[in-house]
Amino acid sequence: MRASAPGNDGFRQITTSHKQMQSFLEIKLKSIQQNTQTIVGLCREHGIRVLGVTKGFSGDPRIVDAMVAGGVDGLADSRLENVARLRGNDCKHEITLLRIPRLSDVKYVVGLVDYSLNSELDVIRALSCEAYKYNIKHNIIIMIDVGDRREGILPEDVVDTVRYVSSLKGVHIAGIGTNMGCFGGILPTMNNLRLLLEIKSSIESECGIEVEIVSGGGTSSLELVSAGTMPSGINQLRVGEGILLGTDTTRQTVIPQLAQDAFILYSEIVELKEKPSMPYGEAGFDAFGNVPRFTDMGVRKRAIVSLGKQDVNPDGLIPLDERTTILGASSDHMVIDVTDSPTPYRVGDMIAFRLNYQGLLFLSNSMYVTKKYI
Ligand SMILES: *Cc1c(COP(=O)(O)O)cnc(C)c1O
Repeated sequence: MRASAPGNDGFRQITTSHKQMQSFLEIKLKSIQQNTQTIVGLCREHGIRVLGVTKGFSGDPRIVDAMVAGGVDGLADSRLENVARLRGNDCKHEITLLRIPRLSDVKYVVGLVDYSLNSELDVIRALSCEAYKYNIKHNIIIMIDVGDRREGILPEDVVDTVRYVSSLKGVHIAGIGTNMGCFGGILPTMNNLRLLLEIKSSIESECGIEVEIVSGGGTSSLELVSAGTMPSGINQLRVGEGILLGTDTTRQTVIPQLAQDAFILYSEIVELKEKPSMPYGEAGFDAFGNVPRFTDMGVRKRAIVSLGKQDVNPDGLIPLDERTTILGASSDHMVIDVTDSPTPYRVGDMIAFRLNYQGLLFLSNSMYVTKKYI
C-alpha cells in the first residue's frame, strides 16, 4: 500500500465535496421564474396559454417549481422517464407528452400524462384501447405538419384522420398542433399558423367537433406574439428555451425582455500557458477521430479548464467573457484562448459560460457537474 494514498475518508471527500469545486452549474431559480412570468404575461394578453417545457433539465423538481411559481398553465416533457420523476415528486399539474408516443409505451402514456401529441393512427388506436380499459378518455393533440417535415399529418389528410379518430371510444381530440424550427429549420410565420387555423375550421365544419386547443409551437413562436403578428385563435404555446435560457435558437437571437443568466457553468483553470497556436509534429487524428484544422495566430495565451466532452459538447457553451474563445475539447480538457481578455486569469480561477439548449440538455444529465441552486 502506498503511504501517500488517501484513505477511504479522503476518497469519500473527493466524491462529494471536492466535486463541487471543479465544475458546477449555477441555477438561478429567480431568473427562471421571472422569464416564465414575462412570457406567460405576454401570451395571456393574446389569449394564449403557456405550457412550461421541462425536458431541458430532465424534470428537475426545483426548476419545475420555479416555472409553476411563474404561472405556467401546465407542464410538458418529451420523456416519460421525466414525467415519471415529476409524478414521483407528487406533481399534480397537467402534463403533456411532447414526443409522439411509441406503440410499446401506450400503457405509460395513458397512466402518466393528461395529453399527448400524436400523428399515427396505429398509436392513437392503441391509446384508445388502453384508455377504454380503464373507462377513461385520453386527451390527444393531433399534430399537423405545416412544413418542418418532422412529425405530423399532412394538411390534406387531416379531415379524414380526425373523422376516424373521433369515432374511437378511448380518446378525446382536445386539439391540434404543430411543431416548427426543429427538423427542417422552418420558422413559424403568420402563413403557416393561419394554415393551422384554417385546418381547425375545416375540422369543425366537416367533422362536427369542437377543436379547443390550437398549439402553435414553442419558443420560436414567441417572436410573433411580441410583434403582434400571431394569428388570433392560436391559444397554446409549449415553451422551454425561452423560459430557461432567454434565447431563440431558430433565429439565433437573445430575447431582449428575458434573462439569460439562469444557467451559468463554472469550471476551474488547470493550466495557463502561452503556446504556439499551431500543433507541431506529424499530423494524425484527434481523440475523436477527426482531423483538426488550425489557423496560425502566433503565440497565444491559453487556459485549460477541467471540463470535457464527457461533460458537455463545447458547442453547447458560450464564454461569459466575450474576449475569450473556446478552441476545442477532448474528453476531459477544454482549451480556451484568453489572449485578448483584460481579465488577469490565474490557475485555480473559475471561467464562466452561458449555455445554449444543447449545452443545457447535456449538463442536466451530467453526473460530473454539480448543480447549485440560488
Ligand atoms: C422541445 C419541444 C418544445 C419546446 O421547444 P422550445 O424551443 O424549447 O420552446 C415544443 N414542442 C415540442 C414538440 C418539443 O419537442
